[in-house]
This record gives sequence, structure tokens and C-alpha cells, in this order.
Amino acid sequence: MTYQAPLQDMQFVLMDVFKAPQQWQQMPALAESIDADTALAILEEGAKISGELLAPINRQGDEQGVQLEQGQVITPDGFKQAYQTYAESGWAGFGGAPEFGGMGMPKSLGVLFEEMCYSANNSFSLYPSLTAGAALCILSHGSHAQKQTYLPKLYSGEWAGAMDMTEPQSGSDLSGVRTKAEPQQDGSYKISGTKIFITGGDQDLTENVVHLVLARLPDAPAGSRGLSLFIVPKHLPNDDGSVGERNGVNVGALEHKMGIKASATCVMHYEEATGFLLGKANRGLVAMFTMMNYERLSISLQGIGCAEMGYQMAANYAKERNQGKGASQATTANSDPIVVHGDVRRMLLTIAAMTEPSRALAVMTGMALDKAKFATDGKKEAEQMVNLLVPLCKAFFTDLGLESTVHAQQVFGGHGFIRETGVEQLVRDVRIAQIYEGTNGIQALDLLARKVLPNDAAALKALQAQALEVTAVVAPEHKAWAEQVDAAFNRLIDAAITIKNSDNKADAVNAAAVDYLHAMGYATYGYLWLKMLNALPQSEQSEQFKQRKSAIAGFYFGRMMPRFDAHLVSALAPTDLTMSLDNELF
Ligand SMILES: Cc1cc2nc3c(=O)[nH]c(=O)nc-3n(C[C@H](O)[C@H](O)[C@H](O)COP(=O)(O)OP(=O)(O)OC[C@H]3O[C@@H](n4cnc5c(N)ncnc54)[C@H](O)[C@@H]3O)c2cc1C
Repeated sequence: MTYQAPLQDMQFVLMDVFKAPQQWQQMPALAESIDADTALAILEEGAKISGELLAPINRQGDEQGVQLEQGQVITPDGFKQAYQTYAESGWAGFGGAPEFGGMGMPKSLGVLFEEMCYSANNSFSLYPSLTAGAALCILSHGSHAQKQTYLPKLYSGEWAGAMDMTEPQSGSDLSGVRTKAEPQQDGSYKISGTKIFITGGDQDLTENVVHLVLARLPDAPAGSRGLSLFIVPKHLPNDDGSVGERNGVNVGALEHKMGIKASATCVMHYEEATGFLLGKANRGLVAMFTMMNYERLSISLQGIGCAEMGYQMAANYAKERNQGKGASQATTANSDPIVVHGDVRRMLLTIAAMTEPSRALAVMTGMALDKAKFATDGKKEAEQMVNLLVPLCKAFFTDLGLESTVHAQQVFGGHGFIRETGVEQLVRDVRIAQIYEGTNGIQALDLLARKVLPNDAAALKALQAQALEVTAVVAPEHKAWAEQVDAAFNRLIDAAITIKNSDNKADAVNAAAVDYLHAMGYATYGYLWLKMLNALPQSEQSEQFKQRKSAIAGFYFGRMMPRFDAHLVSALAPTDLTMSLDNELF
């Protein structure tokens, strides 16, 4: 089955719910480059690229995987040509700074294109995603010369980026990174060490790979405050910008993985490789964190993209596959399509009820990122909102992404377990999104400990204030749902205070964080469903479109929102229930 980008849903969220063009007009850097017509044309072009270029090579990418031949990674058939077309069409520089050849497009639009790409082809999408992240890091922290050398090549897609942090002994906790950087007379550094799990560590799509490597200077303090970031290109650039001498950075091996088999996950060795300091010495993690908010939001889109693709596959299948007789919806045929059965409908509606507010939250977070970067005022508030929402998006979308693809697989019955249908690839491909870019457990800790609890939950209260503006103006028939959402935000704030005042706070936060994040996710989706319902009457979308949205919203409040209570009660359970069992008894 081919992927069809959900253009109507995307247009509705962007134009009717968030009125993006009006918001872009208020940001001078965006006002000239993007308007409603351009955004719609971009979405249509994105739908073509994802549906006609990326989706057709997805299955074969999974079957062939990547190969390592004489130290060079070879991507599956079709990837190189597709990448060339992708780059030549300007997508590699979509969000890049115009002064270095980027298109300067807003993230609030970019998230929709990224979702399409992940729906169509997870493995392919990772290569440009890492490149965009590396470019952003160089733009934010590089010297002018570094920007001039690397950004035009990254934006044109001639070179790609990689993010080299993880080492065997150092994953979630990067304080243990051992890779060394020795200063040289000419101002460069010799980088030595080994990294593991490096996405796009090498490939044959681009003529150069620009690695951003976390390493330690000889006199650096211990721990994460002693990490610096280095640009370590596979080929050293010549003065004229062309690729020059091969650098001492090599692929040691390729990981064999459960999914995303066409994405090269590499063990990288640096043997006195030449590196260039990016940003300040010992401030490497700070520099890395610049790209983190963007990268984490991008990875969260992998969750939505897979959920959407799973929905499309399962909904089609449910309308074609006949088994058993329906009850109220029985036809005169011997058997009915499985879409008539309550349980199959439950699975399809569950995916839809989670995917639509996920997309809305992605656009809202993208818009907050745009404001933090481009707005003339309100930058600080936007930044606070980004910091709050990004870990929520990363963990919640990707957890729901896996749940959704498993529902989609279940709709296929036994056929979902067989490779031909393609739905099992989605389950395998989306699973990693819960793990990389910081595991979802670490995201939840970040959300609760660093974003919600400080300053009397000021950031969460700012989100609550936005929700209150929406719940105050709902249609009379949605009042009860609005009361549910208002109560949920109040309870989240009370729960934060309770957790903060716990005797053993660190354990309490660690044990409660994932449930807290999920409770916050369901409350936020309640708010966003109401925002979408409020936008429906003025929308020019068809009556059928509106009926569908209203039905899915009803399902959300009746059958998904109760999960809020379960998660909040669980988050507030005594910490001892989790911590008292002796380690030896596990
Ligand atoms: C396919 C793939 C691609 C990747 N791409 C990249 C890449 O491009 N660049 C890169 O640098 N890395 C990459 N990674 C690495 C990835 O980011 C790490 O695997 C991830 O951050 C987790 O680290 P770890 O595997 O060492 O697990 P660990 O840190 O050992 O964690 C194991 C478990 O313990 C939990 N845990 C750890 N510490 C805590 C704590 N303080 N509190 C509560 N729970 C905790 C974790 O949540 C997890 O459940 C990739 C990994 C994979 C598998």
C-alpha cells in the first residue's frame, strides 16, 4: 500500500487551528519568506516527495539493509538516487539560514514535512534529520569561517552530518565520555577514541560526512562539564570548499538491528583524526543541547509518522477484509468487512484519537521554536514553552507511535505478523524512537525534574493558561470535556507540589516521571482536541471532515482521557512501592 500524506488534516491544523500564516507575519525573518499559499504548495510538494520518492524504496531498504564494504557503508538500491533528488529539490536546506544557502523555512511547517517523510521511510529520513541538526549546531556555535565552510554544503545536501556522543560505557550519562582531544600547534586537535551507535556515521549518499564529536581536552574537569564539541569531517575540506584529504575517522562495524535497517548505525574509530573546536572549550554539552530541542522534536515525528502510516494501512485493510457478521452494521452478505466490529473500530479510533492531537502539538511546539528564534518579543516565554514541550513530544509521541503501530498490526490479525503486509516493519522501525535521542525514561525525568518542578511549576502553569483560553470558549455541548481538561491541569499542578515535597524527592521523581509525563500528555491532548473542535465551525473543510473530527474527539474524551486518571494515580503512589524491594531480589 502506498502512503498518502494526510494533507487535509495537516492544512486544518496549520491554517485553521493555529492560523500559522498570521503568526509568521509577526516574525520579520519569516514574514517575507512564507505565506499561506507557499506553505500549501510546500505541503503538496512534500506529499509528492514522500509518497512517490521515499515510500517506494522503504520495503527494499528494509530487505537489503546497509552493508560495509572495505570500510565504506553502502546504502540499499535506490537510496542514492532518491537522496540526490531530495537534495536537489532543496529539502536538505529547508530550515537552514538563508545567508548560508538555506531556505529559512519555519519549523512549524517543517514538522509536517518531517512527519510525511517518517511515514514513508524511517531509515531514509534519519540521514537528513541528523544533517539538519548538525547544521543548526554549527550555525549556533561555529565561527564565521566554520559556518562558511560547512553550512552551504550541508544545506545543499552535498555533505551530511552525524552526532557522535555515545560510547560503550557512556550512554544516558555522558559524563563518562573518554574520547580525547589533543591541541595542535595550528589550532586544530587530534581526536582519538571510539563511539558506538552513530546514525549516518558513514554512507554513500554524500561526498563528505561532518561528525560532531564530544571529546575531552587534556586539562578538562571530570564529568560532563569537561566535554567539548569538535567538528571532525570524514574528508578535510580544501580552501576552495572541495573535499580534500581523508581524515582518520573510520567505521569499525555496522550494528545489526531490529529495525531502521537502511539507516547506518556505526561504530566509529577516531585515530588521531583532525578536529576543530566548535564553540567554547568544556561547553560541548551546552552546544549539543542547542540541536537537541530540534532533534528531539524531529525524532518525536517518527512516532507520529509511523502511527499515521499504520492507521492508513489498517483502515484500508479493515474495509477490505471480510470476517464474521457485524451486529448493528451487518450487511446481507455472508460476512462483513471487519471495520464493522466494535473492537476493530476501537483500535482504529485509538490510533486516530492519538495521532491528530500529536500532530497539533508538533505544530504548536514548532511554532514555539519559531518564536524563540524569530519573534521580536515573547522570545523568553516561547523558549520556556519549547523546553517544557520537547521532552513531552519526544516521549509521548514515540510511546504512542509504538502503541499505534501495534494496534495497526493487530487489525491485520495473523497477516500483520507476516512480512508481506509491511505493517510489521513499522512496528520494528518505530521502536528505536523510544530509545535514542535520550530514552523516554530520561525524557520523563527531564520533564518532571527540570521543566515542571522548578519555579512552582511556572512553565506548566503557562501551558495551563493557554488551555484555559481554549476551555473558556468551547461550544455548550463540549463544556463537560472542558471541565475535565481544566481539572486535569489543576491536578497535574497539585501532583507536582506533592512530588516536590516528598521525603525522598530524587527517588520519588525518578519513580513517578514516566506516569507523570503520560498524564500530562493526555491532559494536553484534551486541550488540543478542544482547540481543534473550536476551530471546526469556521473551517472551510467539508461536512464529512467535520463529522469525522467530532466523532474522533468524542472517542478521545470517552475512551482515552480516562487514562489520565490511571497515570496520575500511579505517579502519586508511595515511592516505597517501587524502591523497597532489595536489588538482589530482582
Ligand atoms: C539505532 C540507534 C541509533 C543511535 N544513534 C545515535 C547517534 O546518532 N549518536 C549518538 O551519540 N548516539 C546514538 N544512539 C545511542 C542512544 O542515544 C543511546 O542508546 C541512548 O541514549 C541510551 O543509552 P544506552 O544505550 O547506553 O542505555 P543506558 O544509558 O545504559 O540506559 C539503560 C536503561 O537505564 C535507564 N536509565 C539510565 N540512567 C537512568 C537514570 N538516571 N534514571 C532512570 N533511568 C535511567 C534508561 O532509560 C534505559 O532504560 C543510537 C542508538 C541506537 C540503538
